[in-house]
Amino acid sequence: MTQSAISIVGLEKTYAGGKRALDGVSLEIPRGSIFGLLGPNGAGKSTMINILAGLVNKTGGTANIWGFDIDAHPRNAKRSIGIVPQELVFDAFFTPYETLELAAGLFGVPPKQRRTMELLRAVHLDDKAHVYSRSLSGGMKRRLLVAKALVHNPPVLVLDEPTAGVDIELRAQLWDYVKELHAQGTTVVLTTHYLEEAEALCDRIAIVNQGRIIANDATSTLLATAGDKKLTVLVDRDLAAVPPGLEARTELRGDRTLVLTYDKRERNAGQVLAAVAAAGLGVVDVSTQEADLEDVFLELTRAHG
Ligand code: ADP
Repeated sequence: MTQSAISIVGLEKTYAGGKRALDGVSLEIPRGSIFGLLGPNGAGKSTMINILAGLVNKTGGTANIWGFDIDAHPRNAKRSIGIVPQELVFDAFFTPYETLELAAGLFGVPPKQRRTMELLRAVHLDDKAHVYSRSLSGGMKRRLLVAKALVHNPPVLVLDEPTAGVDIELRAQLWDYVKELHAQGTTVVLTTHYLEEAEALCDRIAIVNQGRIIANDATSTLLATAGDKKLTVLVDRDLAAVPPGLEARTELRGDRTLVLTYDKRERNAGQVLAAVAAAGLGVVDVSTQEADLEDVFLELTRAHG
């Protein structure tokens, strides 16, 4: 079996004050994946990331990064991971160039092996290399933090809520770069509470809720497990209300469009359409829609709530 990028077993964190943020989390993040840690605010995602970063002490369990136990080999573990924090934190009086040089120095990267300009080019900040960081826009600061997380060339890059409060254009740019890094072999882990983000980017997703993992699967598998499916039917006459005899969850949109939500484990589209025909309606057009991650998420959090 190939070794995981990150391997977590029975991870626990109870904060001073008694808040139990992680309640025995076990998780394998495969090398080469774009892995999503998805969960509502307060689920424990940042706590998990901060433990991996060495910023928060766990109160139980073990964690391994690129084969290095964070207790037994903290230096090697830290060298194997780059973390882009949620907050835009760095010294406003350093230039981007200095910021990266300093970070590389802290990781003990010898000057000859530093890739400062290369990284600044990669995040499109090379023309800002020598201006004060405080004069950068929010988006540029975010990109600088990505570059900073990469100064030691780590095999694993973790982005903690990277697009919270980030505008759509920048979000797209950031994702393009993350995809590029992934294509070059970097394992990417991102925490998010944006379902579409996880759905669009991640090949695997673990859902965290109240300090526990409640699902962990390939994104496509996760989506396939959701039971609800929607059938949108255009009928051949105007309706004033949903006719009797259809699915319980049927909505009338406009005069002629019925949106029928059904559980695909109980019925198939043919049966749903047969009921429409039996109600005396002619079907002009049909489209179907699979459940999205939001449905999965709601089903799971309800089941584990
Ligand atoms: P997420 O990143 O999923 O939003 P967090 O890991 O930040 O979740 O938080 C998990 C839980 O732990 C929350 O209830 C939060 O209030 C609590 N928590 C986080 N940091 C601390 C702290 N330093 N002290 C006490 N409680 C904390």
